[in-house]
Amino acid sequence: MADSRFSSHIAMLLTISTTYSPATDLGYLLHKHPARMQSFGLAFGQAHVFYPEARTEKCTAALLLDVDSVGLVRRPQGQFAENFALAQYVSDRPYVASSFLSVAIARVFSSALSGKCKDRPQLAETEIPLSARLSILPCRGGEKLLRRLFEPLGYTITAERHTLDAQFPEWGESRYFTVTLENTCRLSELLTHLYILIPVLDDEKHYWVGEAEIEKLSKHGKDWLTAHPEQESIVRRYLKHQRSLTREALAQLREEDVQETAETVQAQEEQLEERIGLNEIRLATGTEILKKSGAKRVLDLGCGEGKLLRKLLAEKQFEEIVGMDVSHHVLKIAQQRLHYDQLPEQQKKRLHLFQGSLGYRDKRLTGYDAAAVVEVIEHLDMSRLSAFERILFEFTCPQTVVLTTPNIEYNVKFENPHAGNFRHKDHRFEWTRDEFQSWAASITKRFGYTVTFHPIGPEDENVGPPTQMAVFTRKIDE
Ligand code: SAH
Repeated sequence: MADSRFSSHIAMLLTISTTYSPATDLGYLLHKHPARMQSFGLAFGQAHVFYPEARTEKCTAALLLDVDSVGLVRRPQGQFAENFALAQYVSDRPYVASSFLSVAIARVFSSALSGKCKDRPQLAETEIPLSARLSILPCRGGEKLLRRLFEPLGYTITAERHTLDAQFPEWGESRYFTVTLENTCRLSELLTHLYILIPVLDDEKHYWVGEAEIEKLSKHGKDWLTAHPEQESIVRRYLKHQRSLTREALAQLREEDVQETAETVQAQEEQLEERIGLNEIRLATGTEILKKSGAKRVLDLGCGEGKLLRKLLAEKQFEEIVGMDVSHHVLKIAQQRLHYDQLPEQQKKRLHLFQGSLGYRDKRLTGYDAAAVVEVIEHLDMSRLSAFERILFEFTCPQTVVLTTPNIEYNVKFENPHAGNFRHKDHRFEWTRDEFQSWAASITKRFGYTVTFHPIGPEDENVGPPTQMAVFTRKIDE
C-alpha cells in the first residue's frame, strides 16, 4: 500500500461522540474518565482510550488500536487465521477496522457493550444521539452493503471511499472507507452493532471460528439480528462462510429469538392450558406409552425445560435419555431444573442434553428405540416440516414415536386465544383433527409406520380434545 496515510505508524481509530446533555456523561457510560488516557494490552497490540473533546454540549471518546504488525507475522501459525501469511492481509490489519477492533471493544468497553452502568443506570437504558466514526473500514461489498447492514438499524451513514493510491487514481477505488454512523440509540446498541458488523463488512477474522462464535452471535445479536433483512449474509460472513455453523446459527436465531424465548412461549401456553392441567396429562400419557413400547433408549426432541425428561428419569426402564432442543437457553433451564450437576453419577450417565435442530440431519440421533416430540412441530416452519419428517422417520427411524400438537378446533373454548387464532404466536401452524390425521397417514405410507390416535385432555363433543397425540410404530421389516 503506497498511500502515505497508511504508514506503519498509523493505528486504527474509532471515535464515539454524543450531543446528549451533559455530553460528558459519556465518560460514565464507557466507564472511562474523560480527563484520563488509558491503555490496555491486548494479545495483538495495544488499545488506548482518550477524549479528543469533552464539553457539556459535545463529548468524543476515541479508541485507538495499535496492532503490532511485526508481532503478528512472527506469531506461530495457528494462533491467528490460517491465511495470515498473505502479505496483503497482514499489511492492512494495523490500520483498518477488523475483528481486532471487535476484540478491543469487548475488552475495553465490556460493561458498556453489555449495557451496564453503575453510575448512570438509567442513561444506559436511554436512547441518546450518538455518532461513531471509523477511520478506515474495509467493506467487501462496498457502500451498498454498508448501507444494507446499518440502515435497517436506523443509522444515517456518511461514507467516503478511498482510492487505492492517491498518486495513481487510475488504479481505481479500494475497499476502504472512512465512515460516520449516526443514530439515536443506546450506547450498548451502537457498540453491539459495531462489534458484530465490522468483521462482517471486512468478511474476515483473525482467529479460528467455531461454536463459540454462534454463542456470541446469539448473545449480541438476539435483539436485532432476527428482524434484520440481511440476517443471512451477516451470519454467513460472521461465521466465515462455514456452512454447518451458519445453518445452526440461523436455525437458532429463528427458533430462539424471533418472538420470545421458548421459556416465555411455554409459560404462555401453560397459562392458557393450565385450567385443564393439559401439560401434565400430555406428559403422563407420553411416559406411559413410551414405557409400554418397551423402549430403553429414548429421545425427547424439543425437550424445552425438561418436564418430560424428569418423568422419564423416574422410570428405571429407560437406560438412556436424551433431551435435545434448538435453544441453548431452555437447555440451561432444563439442566438447572433437573439439578443435573447434583445428580449421582449413575443418573448422570443416563441423561444427555444437547443443542440441535430438528430441521437438519444429525448423526447423534441414530440408534434410539423411541422418540417423543411433544408440542414441537407447530413451532417449525411449514417449509421445514418435510425435512423434519425425513430426519425423524427416515434417518432416526425409532421403533416408536409419540407426537403431540394442538387441536386448533378446540381453540374456540379458550377465553383468550392469541393472534391469528393460534394458541401461541410462535406457532407457525395448528391443525384440525382431520389435517393432523391425514398428515400422520401420509407419514405411515411413506416411511413404513402404523399410527394410532389418542385424545389428550377433556374431549368436547363438537371440537374434540385440546391436544391430539399420534403414536407411530415402525412396521417390522418384511
Ligand atoms: N416438549 C416440551 C417443550 C415444548 S415447547 C414440553 O412439552 O414441555 C417447544 C420446544 O421446541 C421449545 O423448547 C423450542 O425451543 C423447541 N424447538 C422449536 N423448534 C425446534 C427445532 N427446530 N429443533 C429442536 N427444537 C425446537
